[in-house]
Amino acid sequence: ARQFTRPLNDLANQFNTILSAIAGAERVFAMMKETSEFHGEDNLPDYVPAGGKIEFDRVSFSYNGTENTMADVSFTARPGETVAFVGPTGAGKTTVINLLARFYEYHAGAVYVDEQEVKSLNRSSLRRQMAFVLQDSALFQGTIRENIRYGRLNATDAEVEEAARLANADGFIRSFTEGYETKLSQEGGGLSQGQRQLLAIARALLADPLILILDEATSSIDTVTEIKIQEALSRLMEGRTSLVIAHRLNTIRRADQIIMLQQGQVVERGTHEELVARRAAYYEMYQQGDEAV
Ligand code: ADP
Repeated sequence: ARQFTRPLNDLANQFNTILSAIAGAERVFAMMKETSEFHGEDNLPDYVPAGGKIEFDRVSFSYNGTENTMADVSFTARPGETVAFVGPTGAGKTTVINLLARFYEYHAGAVYVDEQEVKSLNRSSLRRQMAFVLQDSALFQGTIRENIRYGRLNATDAEVEEAARLANADGFIRSFTEGYETKLSQEGGGLSQGQRQLLAIARALLADPLILILDEATSSIDTVTEIKIQEALSRLMEGRTSLVIAHRLNTIRRADQIIMLQQGQVVERGTHEELVARRAAYYEMYQQGDEAV
C-alpha cells in the first residue's frame, strides 16, 4: 500500500487495493486497527534506507495477549540476501512479515532495518521501501496500466511497459485486444492466478524497493507460466533483501538462509545443503515432499 496521492474518487478503489494487498481477513482487521491506534505517529523520523539489512533480535509477540505466537525469534538478513521461511501452517511465517512491516507491534525484543528500530520509524517511510508480492495479488478495478503504475504513481507509460517486460507480463498483456488499456474487474477477474502474479511482479519492479516480501503461491500454476514467474522473480529479487514465505522447493534451495519455524520458534536454520545433511526436522519435511512446507 502506497501513498494516497490520487483524486478522492479513487480512494474507494485504493482502499480495496490495500485491503486485498494484505491477504486474509485478520490483516484487514489489523489495518483498520492501526488507523485508529497509530495515528499521530507521523512525527516519528523517516527510515533512512542503507542497503536493506533486516534484523530480528529475540522478538516475542502474542496476538491475543495470552498465548505466545512468536517466542525469541532472531535472524539477520544481510542486504541483498534471500531468507526463506518454512514450517507448517500456523508456525508464524506471516507473523514475521506482520512485525517487520509494523502491521502489529512486537512485545519484546527488537526489529531493525539498517540498524534503525522499526518501532521508532514512521510506517509510511518504512513501507515505501517494501514491495509485497502475495499469493492473492492486489489488483483493483481499473486498467492493467493503472494496476502496474500503482507501484510508482509518477511512472511514465514507457516505464510501466518496461516493468511489464521485465516481469514477463508484456506478452500476455499485448495479446489482449486493448493491451495495457484492458480493464480489470475487481481483484483481477478474467486473469489467471499466474497472470495476476506477473502483474504484481511488474508493479513491484516499478516500485523498486530495497526490501521484497514474497508469499509464494501454494496452488499449482501451469508450467509455462510458472517458468515465467520464476524468471521474473529472480530479476525482482536481484539486489534486494527478500523475505520469502516459501512453498516451492526451487526457491527454498536457492535461498541464502532457510529459517524453519514451528509454533513461533526457530527450530532449524541454514542452507538447504546444511539442513539436509543434518537429517532433522527440515530433512523430514523435505523427504515427505510436503507441498505446504
Ligand atoms: P503461518 O504464516 O506460518 O501459517 P501465521 O503467522 O499466520 O502462521 O500464524 C501464527 C499463529 O498466529 C497461528 O496460530 C495463527 O492462528 C495465529 N494468528 C495469525 N494471525 C492472527 C491474528 N490476526 N489474530 C490472532 N491470531 C492470529
